Amino acid sequence: MEALTIAAIATPPGAGGIGVIKISGPDAIPIAGTIFRRRYVGSAADTPAADSQAPQDNKEFQTHRLYYGHIIDPGSGNILDEVLMAVMKAPHSYTCEDVVEIQAHSGTATMGAILEKILDQGARIAEPGEFTKRAYLNGRIDLTQAEAVIDIINARTGAALQAATSQVRGKLNAVIEDIKRSLTDLLVDIEAGIDFPEDVAEILPTEGVARNIRQSVSKPIETLIEGYCRRHVYRDGLQLVIIGKPNVGKSSLMNCLVRKERAIVNELPGTTRDLVEDGLQIKGIPINIVDTAGLHDTQDPIEQVGIHKARHCIQGADLVLFIVDAAGPLTADDHQIYQQYAGMNMILVLNKLDLVENDPSLKIQIPEQWNGIPTVSISALYEKGIDALEAVIVNRAVGDNGSLAEHAMIPNIRHKQALEACLDAVGHVLNGLSENQPEELIAIDVKTAIAHLDGIVGTEPSADILDQIFSSFCIGK
Ligand code: GDP
Repeated sequence: MEALTIAAIATPPGAGGIGVIKISGPDAIPIAGTIFRRRYVGSAADTPAADSQAPQDNKEFQTHRLYYGHIIDPGSGNILDEVLMAVMKAPHSYTCEDVVEIQAHSGTATMGAILEKILDQGARIAEPGEFTKRAYLNGRIDLTQAEAVIDIINARTGAALQAATSQVRGKLNAVIEDIKRSLTDLLVDIEAGIDFPEDVAEILPTEGVARNIRQSVSKPIETLIEGYCRRHVYRDGLQLVIIGKPNVGKSSLMNCLVRKERAIVNELPGTTRDLVEDGLQIKGIPINIVDTAGLHDTQDPIEQVGIHKARHCIQGADLVLFIVDAAGPLTADDHQIYQQYAGMNMILVLNKLDLVENDPSLKIQIPEQWNGIPTVSISALYEKGIDALEAVIVNRAVGDNGSLAEHAMIPNIRHKQALEACLDAVGHVLNGLSENQPEELIAIDVKTAIAHLDGIVGTEPSADILDQIFSSFCIGK
């Protein structure tokens, strides 16, 4: 029979100050009792001899206490490590089961040896995400909260973390439940009309019902789907690529944004021949920024390789900063770059503002055709206009920059797909109402819509979906 008690190293591999090993299940405390020998700090009993009292004490572990002592090899009695051990008894633990967490000295050999002793005592190694899966199966958290745990682990910026933690508190679930309630109310009305046609005033079809569905169901679902894109950026980051002909100030801007000398700045054209990458954050959005070789016609074979790489990189950009020299004039190279990349999410950056500030008549005329592109004037040399540029970058990435935690964000593509399917079913409901279809048919569509919502919070998720969700976790969570 498969062991009910699971164990895993919960901290990342490698050397560190502390590593944590978790045990969860009915045998967690007895197993800990066998391998842990308690010591008494600062008392007369703080001697090796006092350790022999350990077995009796182990039976008396109290919940939510931290114990100091040694992990021993129960066979030989040899000490493996000096540890702190936390005991959390069911149901007041992460998994709702008995949980023991051992804080040991992190190091592959020590951690491995302790885990081995735990497994010798009858626990089995946990699968990825199994602790969180148990928390879900034991009813402590819903699926959206379980999925948010993985986001917390992977969060790269404070804003991403904020969004994930608000979800752990159940914000998304609360919004979904509200939408579901509206659909359930509608279903009750429809079914009452079907079962007791003579007693229930006919509710269908009425424009009021349709309006209500649009307001309380379609609209919040649409907002959640829109939120997916914003959330996606905060979680997965943004690939920002700086493009332009040589010498317009691409490397200077790169250095401004990352606030350090990252790329070589030189008055000679063609200094950046390879891609230069760095990471930064703007308003909590993780950004990977790439400075590229100046795009122009050249016979220089090394530059050609750089330009080829640049073009490849631009294809994968989420947002491009197209830099031109504000003191101009615009050249054939500028026009060609515009033609090639105008279809992308683009910001036009007029650099070297300082050169035209005193005489605006020197500033280049932007062709009318380019007018649709958001445009920012800066001086990379004097670090002017950088805040405004950052604000436009944020706006292009996520729209208005409201606090993420205020929204019930959608954490992943699974939810987005379920919401789209729900919206589709709601569309059928609205059609059915307007076409005066039989109530029985409309009821089927309402039930379909509800089922898609249930899939999100995990009222009745399939085993496949559960496996898919929890396998994306790391072992030990
Ligand atoms: P890149 O070839 O497009 O990467 O351009 P660089 O960043 O290497 O800059 C080319 C030249 O333009 C250097 O001499 C920079 O000092 C200069 N430069 C860059 N930004 C500005 C600016 O805002 N104003 C002025 N006056 N010169 C700048």
